[in-house]
Amino acid sequence: MTRVALPSPAFPPRAPEGAGNLRGSESFPDAAHHELANSQLRRNISNATHTIREKRLQVTGELPDWEQLRDSGSAIKTDVMNRLPELLEQFEAAVTARGGVVHWAQDAVEANEIVAGLVRETGSEEVIKVKSMATQEIGLNEHLESEGIRAYETDLAELIVQLGHDTPSHILVPAIHRNRSEIREIFLNEMADVDPHLDDDPASLAAAARRFLRHKFMTTPVAISGTNFGIAETGTLGVVESEGNGRMCLTMPQTLITVMGIEKIIPTYADLEVFLQLLPRSSTGERMNPYTSMWTGVTPEDGPQSFHLVLLDNGRTAALADKIGREALNCIRCSACLNVCPVYERTGGHAYGSTYPGPIGAVLTPQLAGMHGSHDPNSSLPFASSLCGACFDACPVKIDIPSLLVELRHQKVEQAAFGSEAAAMRAASIAMSSSGKFTVAQKAAGLGRLIAGKKGKISALPPPLSGWTDARDIPKPPKQTFRQWWGSAEGQREIADARRQAHE
Ligand code: SF4
Repeated sequence: MTRVALPSPAFPPRAPEGAGNLRGSESFPDAAHHELANSQLRRNISNATHTIREKRLQVTGELPDWEQLRDSGSAIKTDVMNRLPELLEQFEAAVTARGGVVHWAQDAVEANEIVAGLVRETGSEEVIKVKSMATQEIGLNEHLESEGIRAYETDLAELIVQLGHDTPSHILVPAIHRNRSEIREIFLNEMADVDPHLDDDPASLAAAARRFLRHKFMTTPVAISGTNFGIAETGTLGVVESEGNGRMCLTMPQTLITVMGIEKIIPTYADLEVFLQLLPRSSTGERMNPYTSMWTGVTPEDGPQSFHLVLLDNGRTAALADKIGREALNCIRCSACLNVCPVYERTGGHAYGSTYPGPIGAVLTPQLAGMHGSHDPNSSLPFASSLCGACFDACPVKIDIPSLLVELRHQKVEQAAFGSEAAAMRAASIAMSSSGKFTVAQKAAGLGRLIAGKKGKISALPPPLSGWTDARDIPKPPKQTFRQWWGSAEGQREIADARRQAHE
């Protein structure tokens, strides 16, 4: 019989390391350790998430067909993922037909170069931005800065984060970890011409930001945006927001550049009806978001006269090729899962080290950027969950995040077959393979009482046991093991008493 050499298809590339913000510098447990020490941050996050959570429950409870809407949202997104290439081609043709220019970017490096090149062509050294997770993901602001182009965020929370030389800690409320007096300090230190008597009343802070931004809107010729949805049928893009600053960006400048993750496609205009009910209710607990801006290509003498759309892959095709990743791509970035997550509520978003924090970030980040072994910070993300299921209940498109996390944990353990944690498990398996070995191991464990000392826990052991203590503490071993107690005179006496009582 003749053997046929079957070609093995190459797996699509993940987002590249070293570009963008899809990998932190330390593991989730290490980062969470620092964040947990910040009680102010915990208070700020807890107040904000509890408020949004209650509003969400109220407005979703008002809709008799909420569950059907969730089913529709889930079905539409699943259909999109199943025929993404076809829908993207349809979308590209529609955008081009309406005067837009479409660019395809395989990863963060390519997308940054395309956008910087487009800005350079305009001759502008400044751009204004609508809040955009895609540009945060690829590290666009940092890249533009390295090219001598200054980007100004116009979403109020993003502006606070930017002026505070900080990073966002929530999908929807990037400055959720800041309180009013901290914001006042940032404005006083970073905004030119701000009133030195500025107080921390929200209206005063908003007025100061408005004065600062108004000048930028009137003088900056280029805007960069993300998008919530791209409609394949018509080539229309849409941004939903609360402040109207996004609308100023989308209409005032001469040139508009939109960076869109390829998963943001929906097939038809009619599908918007479902998502414009699901999104605001799930994200801010509002029945309708205050501003919905939609644009299709270029309209002569009205709005930006030059429109470029950068379609970003950056690991999405790789995610699409994986059954977990495919479901995670259904996410509409509403942040409902963050607001109900007990782990996120305590650690905040920075501990996840990625643009995408919280439960969905713990799935999406490793899918987009990969988990490269036990020392990759992304490998710890699938464990950043109690698996309580609150995220699944809250998700408007019914992504089963807990099941995805369990599957990712399984993948991580398989990948780590030669890591220190796997070595620790192999050592445990040998110790438990016979009663003699187990007795010797128990005697050795007794030494643990000395190591644990007054702290009552063991936080660091040498390899291979470090594989366990890297992520968890071991409680102080008891004075006596169960087997020792069973063999002792006291144990025998208590067992005899128990037997007697059972027969009385
Ligand atoms: S996973 Fe679901 S709940 Fe979480 S941000 Fe995405 S759509 Fe919202």
